[in-house]
Amino acid sequence: MSGGVIDIQFKGEFGRVAPKVIDRWIHTAASAAQRYFGHYPVKRLELHVRLKEGGKIEDGVTFEGRRIEISVGTDTPSAIFDADWTLTHEMFHLAFPDLDEKHVWMNEGLSTYLEPIARVRIGNMSVEQFWRETVEGMPDGLPEPGDRGLDRTHTWGRTYWGGALFWFIADVRIREQTAGHKSLDDSIHAILAGGGDGSVTWSIAKVIEVGDRATGTKVLATLYDEMGQKASAPDLKDLWKRLGVAIQGDRVVFDDGAPLVEVRMGLTQKYKD
Ligand SMILES: [Zn+2]
Repeated sequence: MSGGVIDIQFKGEFGRVAPKVIDRWIHTAASAAQRYFGHYPVKRLELHVRLKEGGKIEDGVTFEGRRIEISVGTDTPSAIFDADWTLTHEMFHLAFPDLDEKHVWMNEGLSTYLEPIARVRIGNMSVEQFWRETVEGMPDGLPEPGDRGLDRTHTWGRTYWGGALFWFIADVRIREQTAGHKSLDDSIHAILAGGGDGSVTWSIAKVIEVGDRATGTKVLATLYDEMGQKASAPDLKDLWKRLGVAIQGDRVVFDDGAPLVEVRMGLTQKYKD
């Protein structure tokens, strides 16, 4: 990997799963993270793969931003490896600082948001699939009756999808306010470049300050006031309309005359080789 070494250790028997399928799986996830940042986010990663019975990839956990442990069922079909999101999700945890308990939604939300973005940009996921999952998933992050701000209500939906919704809205606003010159990518790159990887703990104030400085906006500070403290529910139907994306049965339909069409295309744009 450019900019980093991945030390892979296997525990257990390979059984029916082909080592080359596992190699390709790890390589794809690592490429998604590497291409997003322009280099692998950490100099050295220890990746522990536990081979066990079953047909699933599960139990991914990242430790101190330097080690990922994940379980792989030896009956897992190769199509599941090729479409896996879990390892990419964990790799994004390497590239963002730890925050205190109250703000776990920021970490989980960022991995949830960036994982499909990184995969669609390397061609591991189609643009249609990306928008289907985004349009169908984001409502899970909206507050339920009685929910409070993201800092206060720590359910699964609010932590993963509520957090993803925060970063998604931030990305759209940064692109809108800077006429496409900046994006959330600039904030996230600046946080990592400023030493904010998974091995350190930052305050929320520092994340916001470094992130906003990179785009010359106040988007993160403003949105944190809106969504961290209060149970605000962004109007997603209006947002899909402005972005020009709709789900019609089995189909994802795009409207290239929509006002935010450039934002929509910018999000999923493939990297130039
Ligand atoms: Zn996670």
